[in-house]
Amino acid sequence: MLVRDKLFIGGAWVAPSGRQTMDVYNTGNGERLGRIPLGDEKDIDQAVSAARAAFEGWSGGSAQWRAGFLEKVSAGLKARADELARLIAQEVGMPLKLSARIQAGLPIANFANYAKLVKEFSFEQKVGNSVVVREPVGVVGAITPWNYPLHQITLKVAPALAAGCTVVLKPSEVAPLNAFVLAEVIELAGLPKGVFNLVTGTGQKAGEALVSHPGVDMISFTGSTRAGKRISELAAQSIKRTALELGGKSASVILEDADLPAAVKGTINGCYLNSGQTCTALTRMLVPESKYEEAAKLAADAAKSFAVGDPLAETTRLGPLSSIAQLQRVRDYIKKGVEEGAELLAGGAELPEGTPVGGYYVRPTVFGKVKNSMTIAQEEIFGPVLVIIPYKDEEDAVRIANDSPYGLAGAVWSKDDAHAQRIARRIRAGQVDVNGGAFNLNAPFGGFKQSGHGREAGVYGLEEFLEYKSLQLKG
Ligand code: NAD
Repeated sequence: MLVRDKLFIGGAWVAPSGRQTMDVYNTGNGERLGRIPLGDEKDIDQAVSAARAAFEGWSGGSAQWRAGFLEKVSAGLKARADELARLIAQEVGMPLKLSARIQAGLPIANFANYAKLVKEFSFEQKVGNSVVVREPVGVVGAITPWNYPLHQITLKVAPALAAGCTVVLKPSEVAPLNAFVLAEVIELAGLPKGVFNLVTGTGQKAGEALVSHPGVDMISFTGSTRAGKRISELAAQSIKRTALELGGKSASVILEDADLPAAVKGTINGCYLNSGQTCTALTRMLVPESKYEEAAKLAADAAKSFAVGDPLAETTRLGPLSSIAQLQRVRDYIKKGVEEGAELLAGGAELPEGTPVGGYYVRPTVFGKVKNSMTIAQEEIFGPVLVIIPYKDEEDAVRIANDSPYGLAGAVWSKDDAHAQRIARRIRAGQVDVNGGAFNLNAPFGGFKQSGHGREAGVYGLEEFLEYKSLQLKG
């Protein structure tokens, strides 16, 4: 068992102020995987003071100098990539091979990418008689979720550090062990004391203390819309800047002229990635009424082909959910779908057969003949549950796609790329895949509507952590 009993504050591993701890569970079998300290207001206060004290030195150095540290962190994570892939596979439930590529691979790539981006970034621009300067926001509080834990941490920590900000990280209490590995890597990379600080704990205690702290200039949050609302309220008390990456209920619009088998396959893969625990999951599949029967059969067959099992097993395509609470939540949604009259085409609320005892497994599920007003079409389930919604014509498809409180992502499929792009431009969401276009590390990532505001990734993510300052010159 991985017992962590210290927090990383001011460049040292320090004992937390209180004695409370929390167990972390192995999603594959429900056994204890580790234990973390639950930090409180005092720990947060200490970490914020350390970050404040480090700010001047860190922000005053050159971008090249900071980039050198980011490169070292990327190399340090790479040296521990296998350990991270395995650890996160168990913490979150993603099958090991995917975990290696995504959960461990993306953070390595992102630290290296921000080292490169910041070296190329222009921090000054002449506008008329002014010099417009980009300055780091200050001390950043980063609060992150469990589904892509280290990736989401990295999308905040790497650009914030590159920009010249100092950071206090409060990772998810559900999958926090990977954050300790990052802190060790940062320690080994030799970043100046206090530039990066780690305080684990609950959202209610450590999280709210961080958001409310007067020494924090900005909160960068990824998580649920529910917590995003609370954080906005708290941050408003000190007019604190926030960037919020929240939930989604993304539509995959399959047009009449699409390659139907490819589009259904692409959608279901996008829905079931990480057992559906992906904020951009394509959870609503919109198909023309004329193609409904064919699409329903393709989706049900595809769902049944997903082998559910232990995240460390070679044959697993769909791992467990991240916690017992999440398992219960997803099963309740599946029951709700049946109650509301949707047609169950695959899966269901019963536990799958043949999976390891004690793990948080759920059946890959598909609902047909879903109305967009149903709960399962409106609310984020965060499990492997696809809903198929038939539409009359393209106008109807666009209307349904946009009829959601969320606006994080989407997809459009057509044999004619220009046709797909026209529809993609009408979807009110932060990123829309056209015919299965690949994830791009340098494209902006974030949401419209209740999916939040602000953008992560690439240069857009760096700019989140910068303020404008203009110097009016006389001559
Ligand atoms: P969550 O909102 O419960 O928790 C996220 C983080 O916020 C955790 O660290 C938690 O401790 C903290 N937190 C909770 N309440 C808080 C409060 N009142 N004050 C301060 N901090 C608080 O979310 P989760 O269950 O960990 O993650 C799943 C959610 O995250 C889903 O809704 C998903 O869509 C969303 N998500 C969004 C993106 C995106 O980029 N848009 C990416 C991944 C996940």
